Amino acid sequence: MSGFTTRFAPSPTGYLHRGHAFSALTAHQAALEAQGRFLLRVEDIDRTRSRPEFEASILEDLAWLGLTWEAPVRRQSEHMAHYAAALEQLAGRGVIYRCFRTRREVADAIASAPHGPMEAFTGAPLPADEEARRIAAGEGFAWRLSLSAAEAALGGFGDLWFLETGAGPAGEAGAIVARPQVGGDVVLARKDVGVAYHLAVVVDDALQGVTHVIRGHDLFEAAHVQRLLQALLQLPTPTYRHHGLLTGPDGRRYAKRDQAETLRALRERGVTAEDLRRDLGF
Ligand code: GLU
Repeated sequence: MSGFTTRFAPSPTGYLHRGHAFSALTAHQAALEAQGRFLLRVEDIDRTRSRPEFEASILEDLAWLGLTWEAPVRRQSEHMAHYAAALEQLAGRGVIYRCFRTRREVADAIASAPHGPMEAFTGAPLPADEEARRIAAGEGFAWRLSLSAAEAALGGFGDLWFLETGAGPAGEAGAIVARPQVGGDVVLARKDVGVAYHLAVVVDDALQGVTHVIRGHDLFEAAHVQRLLQALLQLPTPTYRHHGLLTGPDGRRYAKRDQAETLRALRERGVTAEDLRRDLGF
């Protein structure tokens, strides 16, 4: 077995559709070709949207497709302590701050920034006394990454890059200079869940020894901020391979709303796994 390790990381917030099948097959095939490992990770930190029946159907659909993966499957909701430790590490570096704003207040701040609307939200910690007062009053807060503090901590973002062996949505490929600014001061721990997507993914990819992140190019932008988090947490940077997104007959990409194209709906219509694999180019 080689050192190559990749993963498929669905969120159990709906049924898998053709687009997911393509992504999972792409990663699985890459692992086979490299004689490496294929992992499955259930990204269920959002307890309000994740449901056990979706997780069960994801495993069933992937097995039906003919995929095999290593056991045990990592379920993010069971590893909150790891994310909390990473958050603490970032707090120790002074690169995160508490944000008490509601979604609405964030949108207003973006729209009414003094030098014209911001591309993405950037903010600052509250004065210590106001923060203490709000915490004492039991107000909830999210933790945000401070781009300005991160830039100062690393002495600039100039050394941050990643290797793209697929392509971004605009054909970006090769050595990509990371521009974490595209995402603004992203939320790393949500008010309600205590962690957020970027942090959980970066921690897990490192803990699971993922060497190759293979996923749709809708997540290409995410790689920019994930690269920054890897630097701040001193974690290795995987090689990225973003693939194009499948579109339906109407030219729109498949989404969870397309109930007719879920794998279980295809199966019920009599489509076999062989048919689908062939259709998707495998
Ligand atoms: N859980 C994410 C999703 O369902 C994928 C995360 C990733 O591949 O980095 O879109």
